[in-house]
Amino acid sequence: MSDTPHVGFIGLGVMGSRMAATLARGGYGLDVFDVDPAKTRAAAAVGAVAAASARAVAERSDVVFTSLPWPATVREVYLGAGGVVEAASPGTILVDMSTVDPETTRAVHAAAAARGVHHLDAPVSGGYREAENGTLVIIVGGERDAFDRAKPVLEVLGASVHHAGPSGAGNIVKLVNNVMSMGNMLVAAEVFVLGVKAGMDPTTLFEILRTSAGRSYHFERRLPNILARNFAPGFTVDLARKDLGLAVDMARSHDVPVPATSLLHQLYNASSALGDGPNDFAAIVKLFESWARTEVRGA
Ligand code: NAD
Repeated sequence: MSDTPHVGFIGLGVMGSRMAATLARGGYGLDVFDVDPAKTRAAAAVGAVAAASARAVAERSDVVFTSLPWPATVREVYLGAGGVVEAASPGTILVDMSTVDPETTRAVHAAAAARGVHHLDAPVSGGYREAENGTLVIIVGGERDAFDRAKPVLEVLGASVHHAGPSGAGNIVKLVNNVMSMGNMLVAAEVFVLGVKAGMDPTTLFEILRTSAGRSYHFERRLPNILARNFAPGFTVDLARKDLGLAVDMARSHDVPVPATSLLHQLYNASSALGDGPNDFAAIVKLFESWARTEVRGA
């Protein structure tokens, strides 16, 4: 691999589009592909080359990034006929930034290793702003040697880049993190609605709580959007319940009871059933609002 590798990016949604643009700004030559042609064109407009397929990206790149929604999508893009694993030359480094289960990661890793291709799971913490600014937390599983080689380009995207352990370790850490995130948001939403129903002015309640010990990253980040009734994603309810389901499955495979995680999963399922699946996961507040017959709205 040359000093400045040629980079590919597949999956140009909320996160991938910003990460691809950050890599282009960082001076990397970049081929991009999304199954949605409008997203491929939009990424090309900010300094990348539009490719006709995931295969074409893999054939031209030294380092291939993916940011895809579901485990089934990751399996299809990497392991399907004409997929990334088949198309990549030996020595290529595949970096999957999607949040998926450790089994999917390990299946892709094994298929890649059989062809002399490196594969890292590198899920990210942080949202589209951090993707835009190159300040993500990147949590990597896989061989140390491949991690060390990919690290310079990962540092363009992330302010902290961790090697968590062998293949799958990145996604173990990420799923634990996301249960904490979804839980923090859900508890904050439930009791915020209670505080308002009990008589507090929403803006006053937020201004006090944002300095108090019960606050969290997502409370500070997302409560202003709730007060403004802005539920544009961000990170969708449907991705939240995907990650909670993956955490419940991980617990089942290790015989670990996770009653709180299971309850979180069901409540985010309920939010999706109400029609909020494509909205930001702050929309979980609407579930509690409907039960309390109270809307949380700022001045
Ligand atoms: P998104 O749905 O906005 O983007 C996914 C993109 O993948 C879409 O543009 C879609 O068209 C594309 N895609 C789907 N199938 C494809 C295929 N076969 N080939 C090529 N492209 C395909 O999702 P997102 O919010 O950007 O999240 C992407 C991943 O990152 C998910 O695994 C998510 O859990 C994780 N994540 C998201 C956030 C966030 O704040 N949004 C934060 C951390 C991690």
